[in-house]
Amino acid sequence: MPSGFFESVLSLVVRTSTDLPPDVRAAMKAAMKQEEAGTRSAQALAIIAQNIDQAAEGEGAICQDTGMPTFEVKAPVGANQIVMKKEIRAAIAEATRRGKLRSNSVDSLTGENSGDNLGPGTPIIHFEQWENDSEIEVKLILKGGGCENMNSQYSLPADLAHLGRADRSIEGVRKCILHAVWHAQGKGCSPGAVGVCIGGDRTSGYIHAKEQLFRTLDDVNPDSRLAELEASIMGTVNNLGVGTMGFGGRVSLIGCKVGAQNRLPASFFVSVAYDCWAYRRLGVVLDAQSGEITRWLYRDPSTPVIPMADQAGFQRTGREVALRAPLTEEQVRSLRVGDVVLLSGRAYTGRDAVHHHLMSHEPPVDLRGGVIYHCGPVVAKDGDGWRVTAAGPTTSIREEPYQADIIKRYGVRAVIGKGGMGARTLAGLKESGAVYLNAIGGAAQFYARTITKVHGVSLMEFGTPEAMWHLELQDFPAIVTMDAHGGSLHAEVEKASAAELAAIGG
Ligand code: SF4
Repeated sequence: MPSGFFESVLSLVVRTSTDLPPDVRAAMKAAMKQEEAGTRSAQALAIIAQNIDQAAEGEGAICQDTGMPTFEVKAPVGANQIVMKKEIRAAIAEATRRGKLRSNSVDSLTGENSGDNLGPGTPIIHFEQWENDSEIEVKLILKGGGCENMNSQYSLPADLAHLGRADRSIEGVRKCILHAVWHAQGKGCSPGAVGVCIGGDRTSGYIHAKEQLFRTLDDVNPDSRLAELEASIMGTVNNLGVGTMGFGGRVSLIGCKVGAQNRLPASFFVSVAYDCWAYRRLGVVLDAQSGEITRWLYRDPSTPVIPMADQAGFQRTGREVALRAPLTEEQVRSLRVGDVVLLSGRAYTGRDAVHHHLMSHEPPVDLRGGVIYHCGPVVAKDGDGWRVTAAGPTTSIREEPYQADIIKRYGVRAVIGKGGMGARTLAGLKESGAVYLNAIGGAAQFYARTITKVHGVSLMEFGTPEAMWHLELQDFPAIVTMDAHGGSLHAEVEKASAAELAAIGG
């Protein structure tokens, strides 16, 4: 195996995790231009833009969920795939050790984190031979759990909410794609992009859908029928009004890429792979002898990177509400859906393992008046202490079965997360006097800079992302999307976008 292969793959992994490709940057810039200044979506996009710049400047993870590494490798006949696989795995472990990837691979039965992103099925590596003796091509996509959970697969014909019957036709496929984007709302950190496969079987359909995400956002489908479908989706989908993070707005999707595979006559699947705005995908071409990078794919290193944010980045409007935890019931009940808060003081991270634990154990800290942050941070040892290097919110809906009980039992006053929560939590907020604060999903670098200190950590036996980290926040911006009076921005946007869905797709 060429000696430079390991270093080249390591460079690819680090660059993919920390620097968005130019086509995604361009699409996000275009999205920023479309949203009206001062709106929730415009403010969220300003934070995202600042985060993208901060990640590239400091070579930090764009999002703390560095996703499932999926490699597509094309190699000459005779190249040793066993050794390549070993080197790719070693590069993943090294990138994790350097904090460029979060430890993200857990045993599905025990929940134990392998700590190095290696394990059965992690990373995913697909090899293909090509008739090019002198080069190896390695492409990588890092797709996080929030957007992966928003993938959808339809078996046609089907009856779709707000759209009626979707037949086995291009029109039926169009309805499925619109439905998938509407269904995702902000949970997959919109504005997103979709890779779609028409046909195949249930397994190959999802694989081919994900392969579509290796296309650039500005390419044109060589199949004119699919090109027309992609254009038709992009021409109408943004009328849905889902907006950035599901806050409502003019841009819900930045790309739609569709492929087709033959199918069995009895089956007609439409598989949709939803990727978030943190659409991390890069590639390299290597000299097959030396393993050195001869060129990058999707980016031109000689072209200077244009900053995403304008000079000011996230700008305050003066209407923000400054809060310091612990919070009182009175403070919390004075907040209404749409308020932007700047939160300071202590917050405690809690994801799936912590919530499950708190249902049957007392919390390791006093949570009265407290703030729980749905977040699995990337944390580095810093002398005797810790330093948070990436800390955006994780998808909150997973905690729906627990949240209302935990708020009531322990006196929690605020929950920070992304994507919103359900009816049970909404009722719990009203009953107990608490709010749900939506932070900007994926803005891991931006939020890491609002964490001024790590006071400690509890429940470390759950692994770094799942442990309860005790954080000191300073002016952490978030939007009240569920208040203590029964108000929910998520419910409002979902209802309004359902009406639009029916109008454009029905
Ligand atoms: S931006 Fe959102 S959906 Fe994407 S990886 Fe990060 S948290 Fe997950």
